[in-house]
Amino acid sequence: MRPFAAPTLISVLIALCGTAALSAEPKANLANTISLEASHPDSFRNFAPELPELRARAAQINTEFGLHVSEIEPGLFFVTNLIYQSAFVVTDTGVVVLDAPPSFGTNLRTAIDLKAPDMPITHLIMSHGHRDHNGGGFAFADIDGLEVVSAAGVSETLAAHPLEGVLPATRTFEGALDLTIGGVDIALQAARFHAEDVDTIIYLPAQRFLMAIDTITPGEVPFMNFGATSDVSGYLAMFDTFLDYNFDHFLSGHVSVLGNRDDVIKARDYAFDVRDTVYGLMPTFNDRMMEGLNAVEFQNGNLAYRFAMEGIRDECSAQVIDRWQDRLSVVDLWADSHCETILVYAIMH
Ligand SMILES: [Zn+2]
Repeated sequence: MRPFAAPTLISVLIALCGTAALSAEPKANLANTISLEASHPDSFRNFAPELPELRARAAQINTEFGLHVSEIEPGLFFVTNLIYQSAFVVTDTGVVVLDAPPSFGTNLRTAIDLKAPDMPITHLIMSHGHRDHNGGGFAFADIDGLEVVSAAGVSETLAAHPLEGVLPATRTFEGALDLTIGGVDIALQAARFHAEDVDTIIYLPAQRFLMAIDTITPGEVPFMNFGATSDVSGYLAMFDTFLDYNFDHFLSGHVSVLGNRDDVIKARDYAFDVRDTVYGLMPTFNDRMMEGLNAVEFQNGNLAYRFAMEGIRDECSAQVIDRWQDRLSVVDLWADSHCETILVYAIMH
C-alpha cells in the first residue's frame, strides 16, 4: 500500500530554502513536553488516568519475595514483578522455565521451589537473547544437565557478544522445534518482530498459552513509537501470526497484566487504525508544507516540513485518542508517537 508518493516538489523547495531563522534569538525546545506543575498549560493533570478495567486486571505481589506467582492452568505458572514477566511449567519429569529476567534475581528459582518443591529444573527456554529478559539465567547456572534452549541466531549472537547472566544454549534450532517434556507439548517457532537477530514464539497447545515477548502491552496502547520498532511492516504482520494460534493466555513480557486473545486483537486493530489514519491524511501533506513555507517566507524548509509533519501527527493523534480513549489505557500519552512512527514510515516507503 503506497497512497502517498514522496513529495518531490517539497524536496526541491527544501533544497531551495535557506535555514536561516527569521528570528536570530535562540529558543528553548518548543516541542511538546509534560510539566509536573499543576497550573502549567501542559500539566500532567491534563492526561487521563489509567482505565479502571486495566487497574482491575493488574497482578498483585503475592509472595514474600517480591513476585506475583499464579497457576493459570494446571502446572503452568505466570510470574511477574509487575514490570517483567516470565513463566514456568511443571511437567511429569521436571520444571521448564520460560525466560529468566535478571530483575527477578534468584527469586524465580525460589518461586519454583515453592510450587514444585521436589521437582528438578530440567529446561530453560529463552524467548530471545536480550539481557533484560534472560540475564537471570545465572540463577540456574549450577543445575547439572540443565538444557538451555534458544534459536540458533540467538546462540550465535551470544557467542560473539556474551551478555552478563545469560546462559549459553545447550540446544539450538532453526525455524521450528517441537518438544514434548514430561508429557507437556511445547512448540517453538522462530520469528522476526522484535530482536535484531531472532525471536521465538513459545506455544503450549494443551494450555492454550502463547508467549511472544516485547510485543503488546495488554490493556494499554503500545509503548512510545510502537515499542521503538525498527520494522513497521514486520510489526504490523506479527498480529496475524499470533492470531493463527489457538490460545487464551498471551504472555508478552511486560507490565503486570497477563494478556489474552482479545488483547492481541485490540492491539492489532489499534495499530492498523493508526496506520489508516496517517495514510488518510497524507494527501494533505503538500498543502501543509506550502502553508509553512509561506509563513516563513521560504526561509526555512525544515521548519515547514516539520510543521506539515506535526499537523498530520496531531490530527491523527486527536482522531485516534477520540476513538480509543475508552478502550485502551494511556492512549493520550503515546498516540502522537505512534502517529509519528507511521508518518515517518509513510514518507520513507
Ligand atoms: Zn527484548
